[in-house]
Amino acid sequence: MSTRRDFLEKLSLPFLTISLLKNKKLYNKMTITEKDEPVLKVALMGLGSYATIVANAMQQCKKAKITGLISGTPDKLKEWSKKYNVAEENCYNYSSYHNIKNNNNIDAVYIITPNALHKEHTIAIANAGKHVICEKPMALNAMEAKEMIDACRKANVQLLIGYRLHFEAKTLEVIKMRQNNEFGKIKIFQGLSGFIIGDPKQWRLNKTLSGGGSLMDIGIYSLNAARYTLGEEPVWVTAQEAKTDKEKFKEGVDETIQFQMGFASGAIASCTSSYAANGLDSFFISGDKGYAHIEASIYYGPSKVTTSKGPLTQPHTTHQAAQMDGMADIILHNKQPLIPVDGEEGLKDIKIIEAIYKAAQTNARVYIQ
Ligand code: NAD
Repeated sequence: MSTRRDFLEKLSLPFLTISLLKNKKLYNKMTITEKDEPVLKVALMGLGSYATIVANAMQQCKKAKITGLISGTPDKLKEWSKKYNVAEENCYNYSSYHNIKNNNNIDAVYIITPNALHKEHTIAIANAGKHVICEKPMALNAMEAKEMIDACRKANVQLLIGYRLHFEAKTLEVIKMRQNNEFGKIKIFQGLSGFIIGDPKQWRLNKTLSGGGSLMDIGIYSLNAARYTLGEEPVWVTAQEAKTDKEKFKEGVDETIQFQMGFASGAIASCTSSYAANGLDSFFISGDKGYAHIEASIYYGPSKVTTSKGPLTQPHTTHQAAQMDGMADIILHNKQPLIPVDGEEGLKDIKIIEAIYKAAQTNARVYIQ
């Protein structure tokens, strides 16, 4: 006689698990373990300094795991495959990675290469039929970003951008406070992002590989945070650039840039992005009823958030682990995050970056289309 258990085993497990999760009582009775949950199988591409942080963080993930590696350095592939228990047949170099299309052990590729390579890599991975997770900034300009979105759409794969703060508990609480009108009518956003950059030979200071300077790399956090904390898009920008070291910061690579963004509601954002000053790491949002001040706003935390209703106490979680579990939910379960992380979200930032550079060059207010 067929038992209830036999019946359950015949059903598609992913579907079953999602349905059961909605009914926690039933789920507990069914003794379906965490092991039975579908897990997002991720290949990391570009095994540099940030990929190292992501790989370590992913050891804490419950819904995503590293199953593949892509690197141009054979020694790194050997070392990482051993460290993260990745089978040799799931390791690729930049000439062979197109073959991931035949690899069922890889659902998605996380692109962690220099900015200028994001477009080429995204399109190749989409054409291989795999989902794309691409680091910020998603592209060098809006035209590239649109091509990436189109390629992923055409290939019917998802394109997500590595906005880790979109999964950070205190950031999400600040957004909920705004949604609950706890700040009232928001008037002001201030963003400070900066550090003193070292080696003048690194790709971040090479316009061809980076697409710009501090704004592309870290100023993007302030403008992105202004958009998600205010919950609206800027309609204009103005900007001023200052350069004290023309040898290190060549033409097209900004050292320090200040920018202002105006919003239809009347709110104004004022931000500083710099490769020449340490300790710039805070967001401030203030309205006619309350405020929030986020310190350690862009690094890996724990952040400190003080608000008009007191300090926020959400526990710190490793950003990249929360991000990759959150992205697994998006890709595997079509879950909608509170703040989008899709290609369109990345494109919005790139369009604003383009407008800021134009405003700095022309000394004029630039309207966002
Ligand atoms: P990195 O230089 O440490 O690593 C880049 C990797 O890409 C290296 O392993 C390098 O070998 C590889 N690579 C492949 N082709 C290359 C080429 N043609 N030229 C140079 N390198 C090449 O850089 P990173 O700090 O890891 O940054 C990589 C990406 O991650 C960037 O887009 C950056 O903006 C992003 N990033 C995001 C965060 C975040 O918090 N979300 C933090 C740091 C970096």
